[in-house]
Amino acid sequence: MRVNYKKPIQIKNASNSLINKDFTLTLSFKVGYNFQKDEKIGFIGIPGRNFGFSYDYEVNKFVFEYWTKIKNKEYKFHCHKDFNINNADLNSGLTITLTYDSQRSTFSLYHNYQIIDIIKVKNKLIDEYYDKPIYFGCHNPASIKEKHSHFCEMEVDYFSIFDGVQDINEVKRFHTSKSNLTPVYYYDSVKQNEVSFFDDVDLTTFEKSVDFEEVKQKLDKVGCGFCLAKWTQVTMHLHNGTTHSCHHPSPHKVPLEELKRNHTALHNSNVKKYARKEMLNGERPSECNYCWNVEDNSNSFSDRVFKSSEPWSQPHFDEIKDLDWRANFNPKYVEVNFSNTCNFKCAYCGPDYSTKWVEEINKFGGYNLSFNYNSIENWDLNKVRPYKQTEQNPYVENFWKWWPELYQSMDTFRITGGEPLLSKDTWDVLDSIIENPNPNRNLKLSINSNLGVTDDLVDKLILKLDKIISEDRVKEVIIFTSCDAYGKQAEYVRYGLEFDKLFSNIDKILTVLDRVTIVVMSTFNIFSIFSYEKLIKKVHEMKLKHFNKRRYWNSALILDTSYLRYPQFLSFRILKGFLDVEYFNRCEKYVKFNSTYRSLNSFESQTIDDVGFSHKEIEKITRIKDLFVSDSEDDNIQFYNEKVDFVKFIRQYEFRRDLVCLEYFPELTEFVKKIEHENNL
Ligand code: SF4
Ligand code: SF4
Repeated sequence: MRVNYKKPIQIKNASNSLINKDFTLTLSFKVGYNFQKDEKIGFIGIPGRNFGFSYDYEVNKFVFEYWTKIKNKEYKFHCHKDFNINNADLNSGLTITLTYDSQRSTFSLYHNYQIIDIIKVKNKLIDEYYDKPIYFGCHNPASIKEKHSHFCEMEVDYFSIFDGVQDINEVKRFHTSKSNLTPVYYYDSVKQNEVSFFDDVDLTTFEKSVDFEEVKQKLDKVGCGFCLAKWTQVTMHLHNGTTHSCHHPSPHKVPLEELKRNHTALHNSNVKKYARKEMLNGERPSECNYCWNVEDNSNSFSDRVFKSSEPWSQPHFDEIKDLDWRANFNPKYVEVNFSNTCNFKCAYCGPDYSTKWVEEINKFGGYNLSFNYNSIENWDLNKVRPYKQTEQNPYVENFWKWWPELYQSMDTFRITGGEPLLSKDTWDVLDSIIENPNPNRNLKLSINSNLGVTDDLVDKLILKLDKIISEDRVKEVIIFTSCDAYGKQAEYVRYGLEFDKLFSNIDKILTVLDRVTIVVMSTFNIFSIFSYEKLIKKVHEMKLKHFNKRRYWNSALILDTSYLRYPQFLSFRILKGFLDVEYFNRCEKYVKFNSTYRSLNSFESQTIDDVGFSHKEIEKITRIKDLFVSDSEDDNIQFYNEKVDFVKFIRQYEFRRDLVCLEYFPELTEFVKKIEHENNL
């Protein structure tokens, strides 16, 4: 089997068959003198933080590399290269066998079935390997150093993986003649066996396998605060005229005078330009404190590095570093919120994003807690009162002036809200994409919706997206919706939601739009905990029902769990000392049991047998459990005020909305009584 240059292949269903368990892997191959290749080449491995075998022509060495995790975020790179294997061996062909013995924590390496090294592995291999498939013909394809991308043309004669550490003589016998061994995977060009477990790889699947350390060094050479996202990313809140680059700096108001001179000030505002100036001058703008905190107080990479590594950022590095700080730049990742019109008033949302909330606050005022929750008293002072849909909005008008140019230069466009399907501008965007004679076919289009609007609006959405998709007018379409619990408990917190209707709309969309993926954004909060397991099962059921290989992403439905940070009195964390960790264990067990080893962007290799929760979906649930456990171990964390605010909140919620918390959540009865008793409420 020939693996062509820059056309690597991957093994289906084998993404983690080498990771932290016993195995015996054998590969027989050659790389002829005249084969096309890079200066360093990878034969087999797991890209990203590379695991596998390679050859470095600069020093003429055969290399075996892997990374281990030392503690939390600390990784260690291991490179073994003192082997007696040279270019002539590659040219004539060789067989490499690698075994991993977890009892002894050792790799054993064989050349043509002769032992050449035994390597003690002190720590576990890094988790990143867990959801990545094994590749042939490459090593680190996303390296930003072109010559380190490690592609090669190779001829594969034989390949096998066995579970466990097998006797090397038996392995050889299996290869050359017969043996009783049963392989997990095997390919033999001589015996012409079934080879369907190989897949060609679309190189865009490597877009995320970036060496973050290299990216950081490259950014730091320009300046220790240099971040491409300040140019490439924007979230525009057109309903109140504010903007910010990523989500971390607070949104700032764009003055109308500025907008008159420059309609791109919706992104290229003076505030942002001064921050860019600081970045180019080697300074760190204070509005980006979120990232400086991460960089100064942990070993992790900050979002500055992650966002600058994104495929919509990284290619613009050279252009941006040479730009004058006053220059306008068309963003590549754009989020826009046209209006705060919304038919829901979720408990943790507020009047900035929901007109239903505005109605309630106008009638009753803010919630009277230890602070005035969701009050709108300062709107006028801060000049952030949202424009009504019926009012003329100069920010939306300027967006449309910019749109023809912006549309052609974007990588990703996401419409948020409010409820976007209730905004005329959302439909105008879709029509403009449908009618454009020269569509931007590279655009990744995303739309948020609570999917609780009328049937005719959902049908209209399906019709328009169907047209866009069938004419290949965009690269992908993803719909984001929200749900934080199951059934009535979900309806309590997301006021306006009809749980069954949400899932029948999800069902309808996934049935008609068989390429679309829906992401269920779940803001895990105090009301999620008692029914989350059921929500997970529901999502799993829909993943199975709507599986096909045509979807833009690898799963029809994705559960994206984050935890509620604000308002803190609705956080699940205030249940510390009242709840047992068993609630979280059950959820975690279910997703782990029904997991898939595919990463989100390698959907091509998925089959119905392994439809399930991806590593990322599982990790996000585990993170919540970890937070709960670490809270319970820290005596300094008590949430006294938040508990009192919680009880005050549910009482006023009941008065205003006629929803009795303990009827929906009998599980909370004791918790509430205890707070009332202790605080004389
Ligand atoms: S430095 Fe951090 S906070 Fe600032 S724009 Fe970049 S990612 Fe956002
Ligand atoms: S649906 Fe979205 S915008 Fe509307 S109230 Fe809920 S969270 Fe806010």
